Amino acid sequence: MSAQLLEGGPVADRIKQNIIDRLSGIPEGKRPKLAAVLVGDNPGAKFYAKGQEKGCQEVGMRYELVALPEETTEGDLVGRLNDLSRDDDVSGIILLMPVPEHIDGQAMQRIIDPLKDVDGVHPVNLGRVVQGSTDLAPCTAQAVLELLDEAKVDCYGAEVVIVGHSEIVGKPTALLLLDRFATTTVCHIGTSDKGMLEKHTTGADILIVAVGVAGLIKQQHIKPGAIVIDVGTNRKKDPETGKTRIVGDVVAEDALEVASLVTPVPGGVGVVTSAMLLKNLVAAAELQGKL
Ligand code: NAP
Repeated sequence: MSAQLLEGGPVADRIKQNIIDRLSGIPEGKRPKLAAVLVGDNPGAKFYAKGQEKGCQEVGMRYELVALPEETTEGDLVGRLNDLSRDDDVSGIILLMPVPEHIDGQAMQRIIDPLKDVDGVHPVNLGRVVQGSTDLAPCTAQAVLELLDEAKVDCYGAEVVIVGHSEIVGKPTALLLLDRFATTTVCHIGTSDKGMLEKHTTGADILIVAVGVAGLIKQQHIKPGAIVIDVGTNRKKDPETGKTRIVGDVVAEDALEVASLVTPVPGGVGVVTSAMLLKNLVAAAELQGKL
């Protein structure tokens, strides 16, 4: 079998076009504004910030980078996040990760007003996911569902296996799919350590992998004809060229050989996740009664 690629680009473009249409006629100064808080100088965090700024520009939303010095204390950061939460001009707040080691990033994310939590990581928003709401659900979990919808995949009664149980990807994705009446199994390090990963993944009609281990999932893990959604983004050095490239958690050639539909890395889940952040910014402004 030779699988088809399920590309994220067209899905992201559609989401962005919907936002452009939604905001047409709204004066620039009244459009949603994202405040991105950057603490220190981490290149990864700065890279995300650039991408978010570009995304906001593309759809005509406002963006402000709040850059704080490396030596910012948790107390200072709590103050800034509270100020932004109270600022009526700000519709969404994101704390760029990673933060410096002396700061507890997760604890700081809980300071953000849940109605402005466009990452969807505040316990209130994760709690809403349990109740089936996608208003401000984590962007990557929503991106996985968007991709399945794009491919018109019927999740009802489907055997879905998710590898990885993180709070921002694996767990919320499992909950959202349960709401679609998928039969959902979540695998994690315990599954692998007991040698049971293959037993579960080979039963999957839809296999979703969000682990952060390049090439963990190989041909023998994939049921012939399955749909494979590869969330992983890992930097891998090519031994021949010495160049670093981004690869997924799934061996792409293997998945293309045996599956029916496969998301590429890069160009799959990641681009849709970026678009979902913009969609969440609009949703946040609506929930605050600003649109
Ligand atoms: P994470 O918080 O590190 O979670 C990884 C999960 O994988 C954990 O549940 C971990 O289990 C599990 N795990 C680790 N090794 C395993 C193994 N050998 N077998 C089975 N499970 C294993 O990571 P994350 O934030 O969910 O991200 C996962 C990957 O997705 C990363 O590559 C990340 O860069 C990528 N990502 C991509 C996007 C996107 O937009 N494309 C967005 C978010 C994340 P334990 O906790 O029990 O060890």
